Amino acid sequence: MEHVLMECPDSRQEVIWDTVREFFARKRIDVEINVGTIMGCATMRLAGFWGARGLGVERAFRIVVSESAFLVWKIRCEKRIQHAEDPDWQLPEEAARERWTAVIKKRMAQDKTLSDKKRFRKQYVANWLVEDTWLDLRNPANYNRYRIPRVPGVLVGIGVAGRDGVG
Ligand SMILES: [Zn+2]
Repeated sequence: MEHVLMECPDSRQEVIWDTVREFFARKRIDVEINVGTIMGCATMRLAGFWGARGLGVERAFRIVVSESAFLVWKIRCEKRIQHAEDPDWQLPEEAARERWTAVIKKRMAQDKTLSDKKRFRKQYVANWLVEDTWLDLRNPANYNRYRIPRVPGVLVGIGVAGRDGVG
């Protein structure tokens, strides 16, 4: 398991975890990615921008790390099954990034849908939590959101446009 998640070239894990680190920077998450933090992602305690525990930050960590680990696993299985006859085949780096972007964008869209209280009474996710999960904590515009209620927040950039300015 450790091999597939952290070492295997077949799974493109190095590309996937690079994109996760870019995402972490936008959430001000400073956690090393290893088997321990991947397996423990569901119970990780992380500081938020406004307190010792940021529920949105913890939720972002949980969602993004678990989805990314699953994606790594899926890419590795595809290589083994669909490209079994070609040991040199590798999913191109850009394709791996695109796959990751699609997975996370889908989760963001799902979250937005689930914050509709009328439609999803039981699975309803509070609107503030959805926003806190996906807000870009490095974007200064988001400071105002907490001083002036109802100012729309700026979400983390996902995908090619979102990679601009990553330091
Ligand atoms: Zn391997």
